[in-house]
Amino acid sequence: MADKAKFQAIKGVRDILPPESALWNSGEQAAREVFGTFGFAEIRLPIFEQTELFARSVGLDTDIVSKEMYTFEDHGHRDIEFARKFALNTERYLKPGYPFGMERFLQAVDAFVDAVEGAFSGDKSLESRANKEALLEIKQATSQMWPLVTPDGAVTNEDAFRSFAIRIVFRLQSFHFENLLTLRPEATASVVRAYIEHGMQVQPGNVKLYYMGPMFRRERPQKGRYRQFYQIGAEVLGTSDAPGIDAEVIEMLMTLFERLKLKGTILNINSIGDKNCRPAYVEKLRAEFEKVREQLGADSQRRIETNPLRVLDSKLEHEQAIIEKLPRIGENLCDDCRAHYAEVKRQLDLRGIRYQENWRLVRGLDYYMRTTFEITAPGLGSQNAVCGGGRYDGLVELLGGPAATKGIGFAIGTDRLILSLQEAGEGAATGGPSGKAGGPDVYLAWFGAAAQTAAIGLAKRLRDAGFVVELPAVEMKFGKSLGLADRLKSRHAVIVGDDELAAGIVTVKRLSDGAQQKLAEPELMSYLRA
Ligand code: ATP
Ligand code: MG
Repeated sequence: MADKAKFQAIKGVRDILPPESALWNSGEQAAREVFGTFGFAEIRLPIFEQTELFARSVGLDTDIVSKEMYTFEDHGHRDIEFARKFALNTERYLKPGYPFGMERFLQAVDAFVDAVEGAFSGDKSLESRANKEALLEIKQATSQMWPLVTPDGAVTNEDAFRSFAIRIVFRLQSFHFENLLTLRPEATASVVRAYIEHGMQVQPGNVKLYYMGPMFRRERPQKGRYRQFYQIGAEVLGTSDAPGIDAEVIEMLMTLFERLKLKGTILNINSIGDKNCRPAYVEKLRAEFEKVREQLGADSQRRIETNPLRVLDSKLEHEQAIIEKLPRIGENLCDDCRAHYAEVKRQLDLRGIRYQENWRLVRGLDYYMRTTFEITAPGLGSQNAVCGGGRYDGLVELLGGPAATKGIGFAIGTDRLILSLQEAGEGAATGGPSGKAGGPDVYLAWFGAAAQTAAIGLAKRLRDAGFVVELPAVEMKFGKSLGLADRLKSRHAVIVGDDELAAGIVTVKRLSDGAQQKLAEPELMSYLRA
C-alpha cells in the first residue's frame, strides 16, 4: 500500500488563508496608497543575499546574526561534497583491523581530487586561493603516500603515512565553497545594497523607497512571532539628516495606522546618540553593570561584553530595579544629538503626533543611531511591537557607499498588524462593488445548454462591471443549485432557464429575504448596484 505521507507546514511558518488574506491585501494596498502620497515608490528585493551583507550591517553581536539566520552554501557541487564526506569516512580504515584500509583511504582522497579538479575547470568561483592551496597540499601528500603502500595492503612507514593522513583530513575539512547565502532576516541592508549598487545617490532629493514581503528568523515560535513573518517597511536615503525627515516618516506611519483604523497605538521615541557620544555612554553603562554583574541574568551578563545597550531592553523582573537606577542616554548626548532630538520632538508636535519618550528604547540592530522609535498596539500580548524604526546614518558608508549618505526607516510587522486589527474587530474583508464581506454578489444558475451559453456571456459582462460572479461549471438540479447559492452566502441568485431566454430577461432572487423579480440586463445591472 502506498505510504500516505501527511505534509505539514514547517514549525514557525504558516499559511494565510481566505478570508484573512483579503485583510492582508487591503492592509498592503493601504500602505501602497498612503506611502505613495508621501512620494515613496516600491522596491522589490531578492529574498536572499550574501550572508556577509547581513553579518556586516545587522551586526555580529545581535541575536539575529548570532543565532537566527537561515544560511546555506550555494553551489552546484553535490559530487564534491559527497566525495569529501566519503573520504572523511574512510579515515577509520587507517586504524588496525582493516585489510587494505590505507589503500582505500587513498583511493577515496584521489576520487575527491578528481571531482574538485573537474569542478575547477567549470566553476571559477570554486577556485579560491584557500581551495587551491588545500588541493595542492592534498595532492602532494597522496603522491608521497602511494609509494609507501605495499602490494599486501600494508605501508612501509606507518608514522609518515599517518602524519600525511592527518594533514589531508584537515585540508578536506577546510575546503569550502565560498558562496554563503542567507534568507533575509530584514530588508534595510538589502535596500542600502541596492541603493549603492544602482548609484541612486545621483537622483534629485531624497530617495524614498518602500518594500513589503517575507523575512526569515529562526526564533522560538509563539503568538505574533514566526520564523517566516512579513514586513512592510520604508527607507529614506540621502544627504540630509534633517529632523523633519524623521518626523515625516513617523507621520506617514501614523497616517497608515489611522487609515487602517488601528486604535490604541502608542509611539515610543528615543535618541541613542551617535559615534561621538554613544561610546562614552556605553562605557559608563558597562562600568555600572560590572558593579552589579552577579545580580544580572545570564543573557545580560553576556551582553555586558557584547552589547551593553541591549540590557536596557531586558524584560526580566529582577533586573528592572537595577536598570531604573542607571545613567540615562538622554543626559549623555552630545550637543548635536541633543539638538537633533529636540527638533525631532518639535517637528512631531508641529504635526500633532503624540509620543512617549522611552529612554530604554534601544533597537536590536547595530546600525541604528540617534532617533529610534517603536509603536505598540493592543491585543498582541507580550509581542506588542507592531513597528520598529530609526536612523542609521553610517550604514551606507559601512556597506561601501558614499560616506555622506544618511538614512532613516522603519519596518512594520504585518503579522502583528493584522492580528491587532482582528482582535479589535476590524478584521472584516470587503467583497465586490456592493462592499459587503462574504460570498459572491451573484450566483448565476443556468438550466439547459442554450441557457449555459447565455449565462457565460452574462457572467463575463457582470464581471467586467466588477461584480463577483459564481457560475456553476456543470448543470445542476434547481434545488441543489439554489442550495449551493445559499451555502456560498451569495447575495443574489440570478436564474437563466428556457422561459427567461424566450422572454429576454433573467429572474433575480435576493437571498436575504427571498424577494424575486424578472429584469432585463440593463435593469439587472442597476438593481445589483443599488
Ligand atoms: P521584537 O523585539 O518583537 O523581537 P525586533 O526588534 O526583533 O522585534 P525588528 O527587527 O525591528 O523587530 O522588526 C520590526 C518589526 O517586525 C517588529 O516590531 C515586529 O512587529 C516584527 N517582527 C520582528 N520579528 C518578528 C517575528 N519573528 N515574527 C513576527 N513579527 C516580527
Ligand atoms: Mg526580535
